[in-house]
Amino acid sequence: MAIDRVVFRNWKVETAQADAQDDDDRWLSAEERLGLFELPLEPPDPRAQARSERVIRAVRRAIALLDEDERELIIRYHFQGFGLPELAELTGRPLYKLASLQKRALRRLKGLLRPLVAREFGIGRSTARLCPVCLSPQRERIDMLIAARDHRATWIPVMRAIAEQCGLPIRNPQILIGHEKYHGELS
Ligand SMILES: [Zn+2]
Repeated sequence: MAIDRVVFRNWKVETAQADAQDDDDRWLSAEERLGLFELPLEPPDPRAQARSERVIRAVRRAIALLDEDERELIIRYHFQGFGLPELAELTGRPLYKLASLQKRALRRLKGLLRPLVAREFGIGRSTARLCPVCLSPQRERIDMLIAARDHRATWIPVMRAIAEQCGLPIRNPQILIGHEKYHGELS
């Protein structure tokens, strides 16, 4: 990483010097000036390549699990480069609605990809390690109780059901909220 940064900085310095000194070369791109196209490419690292394939597959799977309008927005905005005002015009939907749709879609994607991020990059794993739901042997059952909850009601009935059916006393609803948000399925 550090080496990349140093190389990049040198490249910037050289480019700036080339800009200052060499007017004849100014129509060449920085890469052409520095002869980067002649450098041999690194041989691909098979492990890194396998990982990026796993990541791509998981992202595709997660996007496929979104609702149709969420998926459409993510693909158009993040993959095809449409801006939100442009999409508002194209779809006839108000901008604020698209903005909240995007927020929801990204939140869901983050949740869906959380296990992958923990597995592949070791990020966020420590919170799952401390989560009593993740640690519970009854986790699947608890996840079902959480998924089946009434979204208009409080967490109290869910907490009661988990205590009674799974023998796990949860004192703070934040634990369930955090678990639902960050430790979701998709492995
Ligand atoms: Zn959890």
